[in-house]
Formats: sequence, C-alpha cells, structure tokens
Amino acid sequence: MIKVVKFGGSSLASAEQFMKVKDIIKADPDRRFVVPSAPGKRNSADTKVTDMLYHCYALAEEGHDFDDALAQIKDRYQGIIDGLSLTVSLDSEFATIRENFAKHAGKDYAASRGEYLNGILLANYLGFEFLDAAQYIFFHEDGTFDDVTTHKKLSKKLASMTHAVIPGFYGSYADGRVKTFSRGGSDITGSIVARAAAANLYENWTDVSGFLVTDPRIVRDPKGIETITYRELRELSYMGAGVLHEDAIFPVRSAGIPINIKNTNAPEDAGTFIVENTSRKPAYTITGIAGKKGFTAINIEKDMMNAEIGFGRKVLQAFEDNGISFEHMPSGIDTLSVFVHQSEFEEKEQAILAEIHKLCNPDSIEISTDLALIAVVGRGMKSNHGTAARIFRALDNAGVNIRMIDQGSSELNIIIGVAGADFESAINAIYHAFVQ
Ligand code: ASP
Repeated sequence: MIKVVKFGGSSLASAEQFMKVKDIIKADPDRRFVVPSAPGKRNSADTKVTDMLYHCYALAEEGHDFDDALAQIKDRYQGIIDGLSLTVSLDSEFATIRENFAKHAGKDYAASRGEYLNGILLANYLGFEFLDAAQYIFFHEDGTFDDVTTHKKLSKKLASMTHAVIPGFYGSYADGRVKTFSRGGSDITGSIVARAAAANLYENWTDVSGFLVTDPRIVRDPKGIETITYRELRELSYMGAGVLHEDAIFPVRSAGIPINIKNTNAPEDAGTFIVENTSRKPAYTITGIAGKKGFTAINIEKDMMNAEIGFGRKVLQAFEDNGISFEHMPSGIDTLSVFVHQSEFEEKEQAILAEIHKLCNPDSIEISTDLALIAVVGRGMKSNHGTAARIFRALDNAGVNIRMIDQGSSELNIIIGVAGADFESAINAIYHAFVQ
C-alpha cells in the first residue's frame, strides 16, 4: 500500500505540530510521500508564513527595506528548528531568497518559499529525501497545470524512491520560473503526487475531523460526514463548504484514489472519506447542507410567454452579452426568474435591464435582492421519497417563506431560495428535520 499524506499549514505551524506530524507518519509505514504546506497560524491572531512572504516581497518590489520582514519569517522557521533540536541551517537559503527578492524574482517565487523551506525542515526531521516541486510539477506558459509532463516526470521519480517530502503549492514553467497554484493549492499538489505515486489513498491532514453536515457557525455542533462522493462534494463546495481546494479533486478522482480528510490534532478520529462511489448508505437521508447569501432574482413577466419560442434564450442573451453567468432559472407559464450573484449584477444592472426590454419586450420586470440559496445534497435522496416534503414542512414550521425551488434531475440536490434574513433559521430547520 502507498499513502500520500498532505499536511496543511496549521498542522505544521510550530515545532509541537511537527512532532504530531512525525508521530502520524511513523505510525504507518505506508505513509511514504509527504506534501507539506507552509507554516500556518499558531493561534487566531497569528499570520501565515505565506502572507508574510507576500507582504515582504511587496516591500521589496516597491523598493522599501524588507530585511525586518524577512527576519520575522526566518524567526518562524528558526523556532521550529530550535524546538525540534534540528542541526540544519537555513542561512544560505535565506541569503539566496534575499538576493532573489532584491532582483524582483516574482510574487509566485516569493510565496512558494513558504512550502519550500518547510519541506526542507520536514524532510530533515523525518529523515526522508527532499524533492523540489519546481523540478517535478509543471505549468504551461498560459499558467494552466501541465498534467502530462508532470505525471511523466514525477511518476518516474517516485517509482525509484521509498520516501520523499515534496513541498505543496508550486511548480515551475518549462524555463524554470516558479509558479504557484491559487491559495490553498497544496491540496492540489497532494492530489497530483497521489496520482503519480499510484497511491491507494490520499490522506489530507488538517485541523478538523473531516466535513460536517453543515456549517458549525450556523448550526451548533453539527454531525460529521463519514463518507461523501465526489459529486456530492462538488455540489457542497460550490455552495460554500470549505476544507479542500476544489481543484484537488480532479487528479485523484481520475485515478480512482479516495481521499481521507483527517485531523492532525485528533488522529484517532475517522475523518471523512471522499470516494467515487459507495454502497455505504449515508447516515441520514441527506449528506450535507450548504448555502450562500448575496443573490438577486430578476423576475420577468409577459403574457403568453409560454407561446413565444426563443424567449428564454433572449433573456439569457442579455446576461451573456454583459458577462454575467446565472445560477438558476426557474420558470412559470408567463414568468421567468433569473438568479444571479448580486455583487456582479449590480454593476451591469441598467445595461442588462435595457437589453431585456429591447430583446423581449416584457410586461414587467421586478427585482428581488438579498436572497440566499441553500443546497440540500445527498445521494440518499434518490431512493427516499418525501425528502422535499420534509424540507418544506421544516421551513414552514420555522416560518420561512420559500422563494424558489430547484431539484436537479440527478436527484442529488434540492436548491431552495429564501430571503437572506431567513438563511440561518432555514439551515437550522432543515438540519434538524434530518439529523436527530
Ligand atoms: N501556503 C499556501 C496558502 O496559504 C498554500 C496552502 O497552504 O495550501 O495558500
């Protein structure tokens, strides 16, 4: 068995956290390839090393003195070195970084040093070999990930090794310039490494014991999710459920490798398994509830709309011409609503309304703002009747008015639109209707 283990920033924020990480890795000989993030926050008031690096590099680029800012970053690593009694020195690395900052080596180069240095320390502490991601993870000139070259070079290299530490978050262009993924991108590196190593499992270690049925800021102490499918996860993360970078799914999913989200601070917790398919029934009819505020609905009315072929297309054209994508489009016989992100819509509002008038000649257009969308997601909904009824009864009991309902044809989710002010009470009501 091969397991690829990725540790997030909070799992590697201090010497104490490094010790937990080592215990976890040494507890299972299958944990052979390790992908670290940069040191994260040690407490809520702390700053992530990645953010310190962005700040330090901005000073360098603006021609300000950046020595103090760089010294503070060095202190973070020195704290880890001292706390673990390592004999390694990062002096020459920091001298090189200083030179490169002065030469304006680039923002991506700067940010990537967080993972690079942490990788050197972790490899030293574990006694594993260090692989610089710049030599094994590649990007195309247009900034997209170069899957083919990366897989070829990385899988060949890993096949020749028993253990390695490969820093997350960055790689390089063909000419060697460093390029990072978007923020939180070490998750993606972990997934790429798992595929290249032909791993049996990708363990993603963080500071929570996996996914929760819903947001703990909204529902008190929500239950955890044991197993979730990739499709369910996609629905939930689109609606705002965090924990894993969205792009981290594709490499492992294509190779059929499951992901296990685990908690570095509670390694005995089972965490959440993310799988392609499972015969395991979810604990409740629903797997998760997520939602977002900040939507606007544009409600268009026209007598005999149903008989006018091409009406919907013309409405959507007005949005398309103004570069606005829509989220949902529920319709009645003579009415049609388009749900869009409020912040995007506001800027283009008058241009879009004028175009709808011109193209469609509607009887009226009414705008509702400050709406929220809630996605109730679950593979168990397909085989259970009455799910929608339970949701609606719960919302009725909570006095929440439903503004829109949309059930995907896959029966994997039901999307409900409510007033933004009802968002929290709606989620609480739905949660308690299913989870006892
Ligand atoms: N260190 C990077 C960030 O803070 C990448 C990561 O942690 O995944 O975004």
